[in-house]
Amino acid sequence: DNFDNLGLAPILLENLTRMGFTKPTPIQTKAIPHVVKGRDLLGLAQTGTGKTAAFGLPMLTRILNYGKRPAPKTVRALVLAPTRELATQIHENLSAFAEDAPVHIQRVVGGASINVQSQKLAKGVDVLIATPGRLLDLLDRRALVLSETSYLVLDEADQMLDIGFIHALRKIAKLIPAERQTLLFSATMPKLMEELADSYLTDPVRVQV
Ligand code: AMP
Repeated sequence: DNFDNLGLAPILLENLTRMGFTKPTPIQTKAIPHVVKGRDLLGLAQTGTGKTAAFGLPMLTRILNYGKRPAPKTVRALVLAPTRELATQIHENLSAFAEDAPVHIQRVVGGASINVQSQKLAKGVDVLIATPGRLLDLLDRRALVLSETSYLVLDEADQMLDIGFIHALRKIAKLIPAERQTLLFSATMPKLMEELADSYLTDPVRVQV
């Protein structure tokens, strides 16, 4: 039971070895082969289960396989998180997985200079990790567009609903082309979440850990 046969890019496997990740967690074993193939995913999972790698590794693999650089102000993959702290953790994790790989990963959250963040988006980004409020501000300023985005990850989606980001999520999701791959992670599945999952996911693989 290791990472070798899940379909991940070789450079990511090298980095996992260097990081001491030898054995995939259950959510990683269940999710990665499907996400690598482009399936949507509904993951019922808490923090600590390894969900960041479960979505991050296959998404980075697809971006590396695609090979093209993003156009200015575009974002290939968007990861939405409820809090700055979680966005920072995801950014650190994905950056470690992708060390020495040709992917450009950025984080935009509230409480930091929006001008600096706008400048960082100008050249285009492969993976953008954002909190919904700051992302909307940046979209209002035309600092980026989501018309070329092919991957959307909603992490801790139940927390985002609790914080009151439902309108922000709807606004953001509408700007992303429908023929995207969407991954939704939540620790709980209240009715509003079921509705959200129904409207944003197409024939998702369901993983519960
Ligand atoms: P997460 O649930 O994504 O926040 O991950 C929880 C913690 O487990 C993080 O510190 C990860 O770096 C670590 N982790 C995730 N997957 C593995 C793995 N397969 N082997 C060892 N550590 C892991």
